[in-house]
Amino acid sequence: IIGRVWSFRDVSQRVRAERERERLLREAHEAIQVRDDFLSIASHELKTPLTPLRLSLQLLRHVLESRQPGTLGQVDRALGQVRRLSSLVNDLLDASCVGMCRLQLQRAPVSLRELALEVSSDFHAVSERHPITVEAPDEELFILGDSGRLSQVLTNLVENALKYSPQGGAVRMSLARSGAAAVLSVTDSGIGIPKEEQEHLFERFFRARNAPVSGFGGLGLGLYICRDIVERHGGHIWVESEQGRGSTFHVSLPLLAAHTRQEQPAAPG
Ligand code: ADP
Repeated sequence: IIGRVWSFRDVSQRVRAERERERLLREAHEAIQVRDDFLSIASHELKTPLTPLRLSLQLLRHVLESRQPGTLGQVDRALGQVRRLSSLVNDLLDASCVGMCRLQLQRAPVSLRELALEVSSDFHAVSERHPITVEAPDEELFILGDSGRLSQVLTNLVENALKYSPQGGAVRMSLARSGAAAVLSVTDSGIGIPKEEQEHLFERFFRARNAPVSGFGGLGLGLYICRDIVERHGGHIWVESEQGRGSTFHVSLPLLAAHTRQEQPAAPG
């Protein structure tokens, strides 16, 4: 032994910094919890009067239809506003559930071709100005998922495609197989999204700067909810877009195991 080395290090500063970091994280977590609780309670309260209001307006419409058909326009406008409010409140409610990890899925085999056709036919009545076409392969593509929630995703993408195409133009839904996944895409030729903002689109309350502020109001929650639903199905959602030219939103979902095998060539002999 020719010598010894002692090393002393003051760790108190590191411990203090670590404690401070933990305190800040705890506070941020509590603030998020309070915000999600508020969102959830407020949207439940807003939702409660909307259902009876819609039912009363539908009844009123029914009565007026036979007696004063000329006044139906007013009632239809009021019904349209109630529908819009309901959709905003539902988004608020879903967004608070996403924050609290409470968006429940009821899984069963879902045919994506049927789903796409159903969603497009729901839009036919309201979108004369914007035809919606569906391109789907003949083969059935099944996934294990919640058809209501997946239909919500597709509806949201088509609604956005229509909402952000103020000049009109066709909206195309397409379905294709990509290896062990199916890819659903919704394409429009609307206002598009600035390149530098595309990575933020799926964040809560995000709206691109070219999104119109009046007339096409939105909360910036739809895509945030869509991403949560898609990811809970083990899938991905992404966008390709060019400002002023249009956008395509893609959703890929893992196929049910029985549908991931490609046709095997017949064995020789
Ligand atoms: P909202 O439409 O209610 O604002 P979303 O979460 O559905 O919320 O969309 C977020 C933002 O993404 C929109 O505000 C808009 O800026 C942009 N966006 C979404 N879909 C499209 C689209 N098809 N074309 C152009 N911009 C879009």
